[in-house]
Amino acid sequence: MATMLLLTFLISSLIMVTVGLAIDSMEILRLGIDGQLSVDPSDVETASLDFGLLTRGQPLAVLHPVSAQDISQVVKAVYGSNQGMTVSARGHGHSINGQAQTTNGVVIQMSGWKGGNKPPRPRVWAEERYVDVWGGELWIDVLKSTLEYGLAPKSWTDYLYLSVGGTLSNAGISGQAFNHGPQISNVYELDVVTELFHAVLGGLGQFGIITRARISLEPAPKMVRWIRVLYSNFSAFTSDQEHLISLHAEPSNQKFDYVEGFVIVDEGLINNWRSSLLSPQNPVKISTLFPSGGVLYCLEIAKNYHESTVQTIDQEVEFLLKKLNFISTSVFTTDLLYVDFLDRVHKAELKLRSKGLWEVPHPWLNLFIPSSKIAEFDKGVFKGILGNKTSGPILIYPMNKNKWDHRSSVVTPDEGVFYLVALLRSALDNGEETQSLEYLNNQNRQILRYCDEAGIKVKRYLPHYTTQQEWMDHFGNKWDRFYEMKMEFDPRHILASGQRIFTPTFPSSSNMPS
Ligand code: FAD
Repeated sequence: MATMLLLTFLISSLIMVTVGLAIDSMEILRLGIDGQLSVDPSDVETASLDFGLLTRGQPLAVLHPVSAQDISQVVKAVYGSNQGMTVSARGHGHSINGQAQTTNGVVIQMSGWKGGNKPPRPRVWAEERYVDVWGGELWIDVLKSTLEYGLAPKSWTDYLYLSVGGTLSNAGISGQAFNHGPQISNVYELDVVTELFHAVLGGLGQFGIITRARISLEPAPKMVRWIRVLYSNFSAFTSDQEHLISLHAEPSNQKFDYVEGFVIVDEGLINNWRSSLLSPQNPVKISTLFPSGGVLYCLEIAKNYHESTVQTIDQEVEFLLKKLNFISTSVFTTDLLYVDFLDRVHKAELKLRSKGLWEVPHPWLNLFIPSSKIAEFDKGVFKGILGNKTSGPILIYPMNKNKWDHRSSVVTPDEGVFYLVALLRSALDNGEETQSLEYLNNQNRQILRYCDEAGIKVKRYLPHYTTQQEWMDHFGNKWDRFYEMKMEFDPRHILASGQRIFTPTFPSSSNMPS
């Protein structure tokens, strides 16, 4: 009992010292800020968690900035505070592994503002075809703003309730990437607050906080024809996908605007939350197509159209479909508004939320796989390790490497075409072993081990590692440049600490940045 009391006393003293330091720091940080610096428990709790629900990191405070100046002010104060504090930008908190968290510092909450002052609204330059947006803006709001001018960004993620800074600091990919590259390839300019200065950069914001992005726009289509077709033969499926993405340089009436796909290893998940098969043109009982003990593959393609092209859409689609080798009775077609197509995952989110299935742990694994090894991956993972059981959608689609900027710090395989395989699984505590977090985590490890042993040189998208050596292996020949840039823009490693690539350094004397 006495030991318990002593321990409690020691812990309380420690907390008081930490809080004391925090309060001193807060006073420094508050100087000259137009936004809000909050230690409100509900703000701190929100910033401690993310969509993954796998890690928790409680910050000392949360900044709701309204300008780049606010952010710059806090970064300077943290840099000069000499208390080993760190700063993490947080967009909409949809990371999986605590990438937007910090345990000894300030989270800069870029999305969702509080109080009277607000960050700048999106500004559309219609004639020049670009939009300037605040780094914390959600893509859904970017879309709404640009649609007022009949314009839209070209490259998307499947889900729009993600922030501009959050996706651009990774890449941002979806079925348009084969054609337009990732979202970051469609940005003209970024304003980035780094540790040492507030600069306008025409490149990537890996070492600072993106406060403004200038995003390229195109005329927005009104409608989308969304088509899904099934395959039981993996090689037919991937050669069709690769054929479709090879058409990227063709005129727009001779290619699809969106190419994705998913794997159905479990008949129960035919209508998964990411993409349900609706409105069959040729109604067919899907279970009859399911090869026994096998796997089905669904190719998802979409073609945009306007009132002016409504006459030709049938012919264009028919022409493109004729060249594909899917199961002929499995064509599922839906015509819908462009905005509804782009926002399709949000509808699924609302359904899952209503069943309490959204706020559960998500041990997601996103891999880039060289196209020469995708058949081996199919054999070992989809038809092997997963064993006809999964707990969520598995996306698979190829992209063209030449649409990616090699200067960016995102790492992709060394082949002209590579696939994204996204295992987007949810862990449930329902007594079923194959849906438990432990089971799914073990399976993820097994998949990575299999790739390693089979010599499949996968690169992780939205990577998460715990040692610097693993990060160095991940970056490969990009590491030296990455390290140099870190040293140049964030020498004390106070930014992006949630990525766990570098450890913050604590100098004995501080030099305030000018
Ligand atoms: P946060 O989780 O808040 O932050 C993510 C990282 O970005 C952190 O390291 C953070 O510090 C940094 N960051 C945030 N804001 C800024 C800023 N302004 N400046 C600099 N750094 C910043 N990704 C795809 O590419 N394609 C998809 O189709 C896709 N679909 C998804 C669907 C769902 C349901 C979910 C949960 C995620 C999906 N993702 C997808 C992954 C998503 O793009 C990333 O997790 C992204 O980082 C989330 O953005 P966020 O605003 O929630 O970022």
